[in-house]
Amino acid sequence: MRVLQGTGVSPGVKAGKPINIERTLDFSIIATISLDKGIKELTAKYKNIIKKYNSSSREIEAEVLEAYILILNDPELTNSLSELNEENLEQIYDVFLEQSEVFKQMDDEYFQQRSEDIEAIGKELIFTLQNISIEFDADVPQVIFANELTPNETSSMNLNLVNGFVVKEGGPTSHAVIVAKNYGIPCILGISISDFDIDNAVEVIINGSTGELTINPDESSLKIVEEYKATITKQLESYTEENLNKLGVELRANIGSTDEIKSFKDSLIKSVGLFRSEFLYIEESTEPELDSLVNSNNLLNEKFEETIVYRTLDIGGDKQVDYLNLPQEENPFLGVRGVRLTLENRQLFETQISSILNSNINGKVKIMFPMVATLEDFQEAKEVVVSVADKLGAEIPKVGIMVETPSVAISPEIYIDEVDFFSIGTNDLLQYSFAADRGITSLNKYHDVLNPSFLKLLHNIINTANQNDIEVSVCGDMASDTEGAYMLYLLGLRIFSLAPSQAPAIVLSLLKAKEALKNINLEEILSQKNSQSVRKFII
Ligand code: PEP
Ligand code: MG
Repeated sequence: MRVLQGTGVSPGVKAGKPINIERTLDFSIIATISLDKGIKELTAKYKNIIKKYNSSSREIEAEVLEAYILILNDPELTNSLSELNEENLEQIYDVFLEQSEVFKQMDDEYFQQRSEDIEAIGKELIFTLQNISIEFDADVPQVIFANELTPNETSSMNLNLVNGFVVKEGGPTSHAVIVAKNYGIPCILGISISDFDIDNAVEVIINGSTGELTINPDESSLKIVEEYKATITKQLESYTEENLNKLGVELRANIGSTDEIKSFKDSLIKSVGLFRSEFLYIEESTEPELDSLVNSNNLLNEKFEETIVYRTLDIGGDKQVDYLNLPQEENPFLGVRGVRLTLENRQLFETQISSILNSNINGKVKIMFPMVATLEDFQEAKEVVVSVADKLGAEIPKVGIMVETPSVAISPEIYIDEVDFFSIGTNDLLQYSFAADRGITSLNKYHDVLNPSFLKLLHNIINTANQNDIEVSVCGDMASDTEGAYMLYLLGLRIFSLAPSQAPAIVLSLLKAKEALKNINLEEILSQKNSQSVRKFII
C-alpha cells in the first residue's frame, strides 16, 4: 500500500480499478483526413455532445463546449493554420500551444485557466486528424487517470462506473472538475501517472476531500470506503421534507458564482440565504453595467422560488477588484471593505441597488449589508436603499445586516428596532474575535467554531433575535459543517444558509442534535473552557 498526496477538489471516498486514459501525441502518425475536414468533424462532435448535455440539464458543460467551438473556428486561428503544411501535425499543434501561452500570460485567472482548454482542443484536433478515438471498457468501477481531461473524453465515459478522476493539470474551474462536481465523482488534482507504477496497481482509493490517493489499499482502508458509502446512504435517506418539518428548520443556499446558480438542483432548498454579489464584479475586467447585473438577478430569480438574501458588494479584505483602483492597505481585513467601501463609492452602490430593484427578484429580495460595525453604518446604507427605491417608485425591501464584527455580536440589541433580520457571518466573526486571519492555515487552532467564547457570542445574538422576533440565520461556513450546525441547533438557530451539497449531511447531524436537546444542559456546554471539552457533548 502507498499513499500519494494531491489536492482534493470534489469530495467523496471511493475505490476502483485505475485506468490510464492518457493518449500521448505521436506526430509520426499521419493524418487520414484534411485539416479542414478535421475541424469540421471535431466541431460536429462537439455539437453532438452539446445536444446530449442540453437534454440532460448539463448546461454548464454545454457552455464550455460552445466556447470550444468558437475557439476552434476562430478566423485568426484558422488563418494561421491555413498557412501551414497540413501534413506537419506538430506545426498545427504548435499554433494551439502559442495561443495557449498568450492566455497563460494574462492577469485574469479565468483566462489563464482557458489556456488549458486551448491546448486540449489542439490535442483533440490532432487525434481527430489521425483518426484516434478513445475506448473505455467500463464494466467495473474505475478511477480515471489523465494529464488533463477533455469533454470528448468525459462524454465517451459511462460516468455511472467512474468512481474518481485523478488529473495532473487543471484548476478548480477546469472541465474535469466541473464534471466531477456535477456527478458527485471524487476528484484529485496534481497527481501524475508517472508518480507510481500504474501497471502494478490493482485498485486505488480516491479521497476527494483530503486529496489522498491510496494505491493497492489494505483491508482497513477499504473499510473506510464502505463506511463512507453507508454514511452517504444514511444522509440521503434522512434528507426529506418530513425531517425538515420535524426539525422546524429552513435551509437556504449560499451562492457565490454564476455556475452555482446554473447548476443548482435541490427541491428542498427554495431560498438563497447569502448571495455573494461581489463575484459579479470580480469575474469582470471592468465595472459591470446595470443591464448585466439585472440579467444575473433574473437568472437567480428563475432558480429560486422564495426569499433571496442579496448581500451588497463585499469587496476589500481578501477580495480585490483591479478596476476600482483601491488604495493599498497595510491591513485590508481591517480596512475599507464591505459596506464601508460602498458608502464611499455611492455611484457603485446605487447602481447595485437599482439592479436589484429593477430585476425580477424585487418582491422576494432582502438586502443585506456586510461588515456593519456601527448602527450608523446600517442607517446610512439603508438611506441609500430608500433613496434609490424612491427614485424608482419601488417598494422598500426588507433590509438587514451580516453579524460579522464583534461590536455587533456583543450588542445586537442596539440594532433590533431598525433591522429586519440578522445573518451571522461566522467566517469573519471568528477571525475578528480571535484576531486570527482566516486565510492563514497555521492559525487553524484559532479557527475553531466550537470554542466556548465564540459559542457564547453566537448564543447572545441568536437569543436576542429570537426574543425580539427578528429573523436570524447563519450564512458562514459553520452552518455547512456537521459539528458547527449541530451546535447552532442547540443554541436555538433554525435558519441555516449553507453550501447546497452539504445539506443531506447537515440534516442528519441536526436530527442527532434534536435528540440530544432532550437531555442537554446548554449552560453546562457554555461553561466549558475549550473546544475539546465542548466537542464531547456532540453525540
Ligand atoms: C462570513 O464572513 O461568514 C461570510 C459568510 O462572508 P464571506 O465568507 O463571504 O466573507
Ligand atoms: Mg464575511
